[in-house]
Parts: sequence; C-alpha cells; structure tokens
Amino acid sequence: MIPNFKNSFGVTALFALFCFSNLAFSCNPTKELNKAKNPNAVLVNMEGDTLKKVVKTAAEWKKILSPIEYNVLREQGTERAFTGEYWDNKKEGIYKCRACELPLFTSDTKFKSGTGWPSFYTPINEANIEEDVDNTYGMRRVEVHCARCGGHQGHVFPDGPQPTGLRYCINSVSLTFEETKQGN
Ligand SMILES: [Zn+2]
Repeated sequence: MIPNFKNSFGVTALFALFCFSNLAFSCNPTKELNKAKNPNAVLVNMEGDTLKKVVKTAAEWKKILSPIEYNVLREQGTERAFTGEYWDNKKEGIYKCRACELPLFTSDTKFKSGTGWPSFYTPINEANIEEDVDNTYGMRRVEVHCARCGGHQGHVFPDGPQPTGLRYCINSVSLTFEETKQGN
C-alpha cells in the first residue's frame, strides 16, 4: 500500500505542477514573444547556403530602394492597410526580404487575418527574424526585422492562430514574393 500511495502522490504532484505552469503561462502572453534566440543559429537561404549580414549606409539604401520601400524598411514606416501587394495573395511560394532577399516567410504559414497586411503565424526560420520592443505611439509592441539587413518588416502580436498563437503582421512593401514553380 505504501509504494502505491507514493506513486499516486508523485503523479498528483506532477499534475499540479503542470497545471500551475500552464496558469503562469496564460497570465503572461508576451512570454512567447521574448523567447531566447539560439545564439549559434546561422542565416541560410533556400539552397542551404550560409549568408553574411548586409550593412549599408542610408545613402546606399536610398540608391536601391524606392521612397516607400526606404520609409518602411529603413525608417520603420507602415504601408496603409489593404494597399499592399500581398495582403490577399493566395499563391504558393516564398516571401523574401525586399532589401536583401533573405527568405522570411512561406505561403504555408500565411493566414487570413482581416487586417489588410500579410499575416503569418511563424517565420520560415527563427534565426531569420529578429525582434525589438517598440514603444512608439503609446503602445508596447514587438517590432520584427530581417536578421540579415535589419530591414523593418512589421510587428508580432500574441493573438495569432495555432500552432504558435502568434501573428506576424508584415508590410507587403518589405517583402518580395517568389511563386513556387508549378510541377515541382
Ligand atoms: Zn533583409
């Protein structure tokens, strides 16, 4: 009888711990946003090649970006909702950073958010997106940018669909879409 009692106590304690950790997590929805990044993660393209960071001056970026691309990517601007190229794009393919071509998202994780901006529940590779806290406009938001060139992409919110519960709300003008070739 004693070993049985010990076993059932152990299971109860484990179950209580499990419930408590879930409770603690549900009270802190931003916890998921601040998860530690793998410091050893490397940037890779779709072919698996390792990529170097891209560093340019403002003058160099202005030469290769249009005024709206420069405003959004380099000055953290936001395109107007429902005006971008990709918010309603339903084709299959890869979304890359418009400034440096690092693959950031795929159509597989794009979902209809109703916001007027392309929305994804996860990046193509966690290392390819970096996050910063953005306190502008009196709101606390988590800004997301390309890990290769620092180009501003949009923000991530903890109200997305499963399996991540995240909503990466991205400017079309920060992205270039490459459609998956038919027959592949
Ligand atoms: Zn980039």
